[in-house]
Amino acid sequence: MTNTQRTRRTPYNCSFCSKNQDQVQRLIAGPGGVYICDECVDPASKGNGERSEEEGLRCSFCGKSRRQVQYLAGGPNGVHICSECIALCQEIIDEEQPPHRP
Ligand SMILES: [Zn+2]
Ligand SMILES: [Zn+2]
Repeated sequence: MTNTQRTRRTPYNCSFCSKNQDQVQRLIAGPGGVYICDECVDPASKGNGERSEEEGLRCSFCGKSRRQVQYLAGGPNGVHICSECIALCQEIIDEEQPPHRP
């Protein structure tokens, strides 16, 4: 019996762009298995993200409804992130980034 399969890390993928944790600098986890990577946080925060105007949608990260936040940015799989969670994710990313790059 051969068992040559490598033990794989659980593959975490960004819920918005589907990149896995090896393809991005940072993957931030939300509740219920939703993730957003640093690359998706960035454009969304600048207002270039796809905004969902549908009523009744909720942020997949904090559960707030569209009316409670400035905007909801939508992903391709029915996931959404609100302006507040984007700001929070940016803070996390900023804190983790070294002040000076070599
Ligand atoms: Zn992403
Ligand atoms: Zn949120």
